Amino acid sequence: MDKEVVVAGAGFAGLSTALKLSSKGFNVKMIDQKGFHLFRPGLIPFIGERLSEEKLKIDLASFLEGTGIEFSREKIIHIDPEKDVVETNSGAHQYDYLVLALGSDVYTVGFDEDYLESVYSFSQAKKVKEQLPDVEKVAVVGAGHTGIETAAELDRKGKNVTLIGGETRPASRSPIKLSEAVLDYFNQEDIGFRGGSQVVDIDEGFLEMDDGQKIDTEMVIWTGGIQASEIVRNSFGTGRQGIKVNPGLCSPEFGNIFAAGDCADHNYTKTARNAWRQSDVIAENISKSETETLEHFEPDETLLHISLGKEGLIQRGKKVYRLSVLRYLESLIRIRYFYSLKMQRLKLKLM
Ligand SMILES: Cc1cc2nc3c(=O)[nH]c(=O)nc-3n(C[C@H](O)[C@H](O)[C@H](O)COP(=O)(O)OP(=O)(O)OC[C@H]3O[C@@H](n4cnc5c(N)ncnc54)[C@H](O)[C@@H]3O)c2cc1C
Repeated sequence: MDKEVVVAGAGFAGLSTALKLSSKGFNVKMIDQKGFHLFRPGLIPFIGERLSEEKLKIDLASFLEGTGIEFSREKIIHIDPEKDVVETNSGAHQYDYLVLALGSDVYTVGFDEDYLESVYSFSQAKKVKEQLPDVEKVAVVGAGHTGIETAAELDRKGKNVTLIGGETRPASRSPIKLSEAVLDYFNQEDIGFRGGSQVVDIDEGFLEMDDGQKIDTEMVIWTGGIQASEIVRNSFGTGRQGIKVNPGLCSPEFGNIFAAGDCADHNYTKTARNAWRQSDVIAENISKSETETLEHFEPDETLLHISLGKEGLIQRGKKVYRLSVLRYLESLIRIRYFYSLKMQRLKLKLM
């Protein structure tokens, strides 16, 4: 097959898609600004010194050696879908098919980023980790899963933590039983939760709530939301959710562009698991002829895991389990995920 596929981004969606397309005989070029693949869910245990940098990352150049996938470390600055070109800081790449897997950035709703820390990228997490020894009081803003995990991990490190959320319960999009289990743990560990009020100002040393109350804090960690990659938003003129795709993960406007993970507007929860599983559908659909019907993505949202530092929670359907042994589940998931990547690579090398 002499079709050129450019995979933009080597995260959960991109790396697996590149491996699968290469095994189907496509010429694959993968571009990423970083030289490593990052297991993002491990950033929180990394901050808490439960996971080392080496265990979070895979070096892309050595991992892809001998696979036939061409890896190029470049920063993408623009995509021109009319000319089928990806522009980078060091050149331009023409494609027959483009897979957009550029992930997401933090979304701070306009608050001054000088007074905020976040944990969405490796460099942000490393900065928080390095500052922690000098900090006692931390406010975590955003009570979704990332906020809950961050607050619990920092409490485990002995910090005085308050989690702040706009809704009256943490994990407000999940079943109430999960929120109750989180609150039980927070009460047991004396982690503060302030729900049902909005942050209106963040400045050096404090944040202000909509009822006028000021909360003193030495560090604010923002876990209040994400937005699709800036490159995708700018190149395609999209909103926060990213480029629209159909259930086959193909752009309705540009038939040779597919998108997955956090940069795609696909109506599914933006998780590592969904991003990774979307790679199957994209590889299948790019292999189809133009007249064949596209395969549809079926999300898998049956099992949810939240690490609480000293314990862990899983939710399956209406059932929620909280056990100390579940804090190791994330490590098991990471080991299994890296193993599956290595198996895909081995398959390619043996072809
Ligand atoms: C702290 C934290 C905890 C999380 N915990 C969980 C969890 O427990 N379970 C779960 O399922 N999900 C979790 N998630 C969400 C999950 O990590 C994301 O949904 C997932 O990483 C999305 O995959 P992706 O491939 O879209 O993006 P990413 O994995 O972020 O990959 C995007 C890639 O694009 C590259 N890139 C970006 N811009 C450019 C550019 N301009 N030029 C070149 N390359 C570029 C990046 O370097 C990166 O390699 C968590 C996220 C965070 C931040």
